[in-house]
Amino acid sequence: MKNLCNRCASSKGLLPYYDPATTSLTGSTYQFEKFIDHTRTGARSGEVVSIYLETGYEPYVKNFFSALHSGSYHVDGKGRESLSFVLSGGVGFSWDDVNKKPLYVENAVRVVCFRDDAKVHHYPIASSGIAPSFCDDCGRFIA
Ligand SMILES: [Zn+2]
Repeated sequence: MKNLCNRCASSKGLLPYYDPATTSLTGSTYQFEKFIDHTRTGARSGEVVSIYLETGYEPYVKNFFSALHSGSYHVDGKGRESLSFVLSGGVGFSWDDVNKKPLYVENAVRVVCFRDDAKVHHYPIASSGIAPSFCDDCGRFIA
């Protein structure tokens, strides 16, 4: 488990670089499916999935770069890296596709698989699910 603020993760060279001019977040079939999964209700069936309120590609790209440039860096118990970025308002909701209804509002973005430019994608999460909330290096509060 590791939690770093964006500044400490950057100074350690842990943040990936993506060029805004050339990055496509729907460039592979895998990424396109993730984009659809997280912007359209009913894209998957019979499970809970998080859905962005804004369904276009432009806000999807904007959320990605916001998380990249300002998000905090996490490694979970299984060694999986992610970046999370908390927004002030709701960014999406959890969707119960079995009962066809929203469950709760999500207010943060999580970027995953960012070492692989054919797999990198992101989705809305609830900031209450991000823990703990201090940088391992500088002790700064991170969300
Ligand atoms: Zn730090």
